[in-house]
Amino acid sequence: MSGTCRCKAIKSGGERCNARAQKGLEWCWNHDPGRAEERRANASAGGRTRSRRPPDELEGIKSQLRTINAAVLQGSIDRGTGAVLFQGFNTMLRTIEVQRKLDHQAHLEEQVAELAARLEGLKGRGRGAA
Ligand SMILES: [Zn+2]
Repeated sequence: MSGTCRCKAIKSGGERCNARAQKGLEWCWNHDPGRAEERRANASAGGRTRSRRPPDELEGIKSQLRTINAAVLQGSIDRGTGAVLFQGFNTMLRTIEVQRKLDHQAHLEEQVAELAARLEGLKGRGRGAA
């Protein structure tokens, strides 16, 4: 086993990396300085797309509305049917909006509760029981 050697990187804890070095290199994949850019790109792309993704539901509704609109204009759907479909989408959009407000409110309530708890902690530290 003379051809392979251990990664020579030192971890943040001060101990040496236990991984095997890549062939012909002194570092494992995680510590290879040549791959640092690649690793960073992977990490940030993964994190960002997950949290900042636009709501697919709304995009879907928008494209369907466009399709219905075009169909009504072309006459392949009669106006009555179009109107009922639009009403349905209106209700759906309103439901999504209400759901969002509720989510937002729940989030705020959580934060308020957390702040209140922190405030209580500060009060308790400053003085004894009133
Ligand atoms: Zn390593």
